[in-house]
Amino acid sequence: MERFNNKKILICLTLVIPFFFGGFISNETMMPAFRMKKIVLDAGHGGVDPGNIGSKAREKDINLAVTLLVGKYIKENMPDVQVIYTRDDDSFPTLKERPNIANVNKADLFVSIHSNSATNKSAFGTETFVMGTKYLDANFDIVKKENSVILLEENYEENYEGFDPTSPESYMMFNLMSKAHFENSVTLADQIESQFRDRVGRKSRGVKQGPFYVLWTPSMPSVLVELGFLSNTEEERFLMSQEGKEYMASAIYRSIKDYKDQIEAN
Ligand SMILES: [Zn+2]
Repeated sequence: MERFNNKKILICLTLVIPFFFGGFISNETMMPAFRMKKIVLDAGHGGVDPGNIGSKAREKDINLAVTLLVGKYIKENMPDVQVIYTRDDDSFPTLKERPNIANVNKADLFVSIHSNSATNKSAFGTETFVMGTKYLDANFDIVKKENSVILLEENYEENYEGFDPTSPESYMMFNLMSKAHFENSVTLADQIESQFRDRVGRKSRGVKQGPFYVLWTPSMPSVLVELGFLSNTEEERFLMSQEGKEYMASAIYRSIKDYKDQIEAN
């Protein structure tokens, strides 16, 4: 009798367990998978703000041309992704408006595109930043320069609540973004720098952290790309050429595509 009961329990368990776990599995597969649907592309500077200036090139023009090409490649090859530009002409959206466009549109990714400059004319290479305050001392010059754009805006004191881009103390208010957004930002930044290095043959200066205003407020993974140094004759020439712009834009496009495939597979 006892043996029969045990057998009965065993049979019941054998029948019930697959349903139990099967239930979990089917619930899981029913959850909508993440799809990257919207991306905001931000061409740095514009209008009254030329950004860095080389011997001939103006940063705002290089940034816009490369940004529009990235958008074109995405539209042509990733029809399920909507591209939103913070500017598609020589206008001057404020540093506050740029990430806000991404937040209002509930974008899945924010990519800001810039070109670098240094007093040392031999400096060259690409770098991609994610939001963070690690090694701020080392990167303070570039962070200060990019954030100082707000000084050109009207009423910046009111709009940025006393934030002074030139004072290191001001950066105490910059909190880190969520861990997931930070990790995804680093994943994309790594892809971009690898593409620049391996596919375009540029010198990659690596993935870095900086408290850039445009990376602080978007509530989605976000990166800031520095395409190269306009203060370096060779690099300025490369970035001014149509071929150079196309190479850099297709590298960023491929990185975004790989990033999308990677996070959607997870
Ligand atoms: Zn810039």
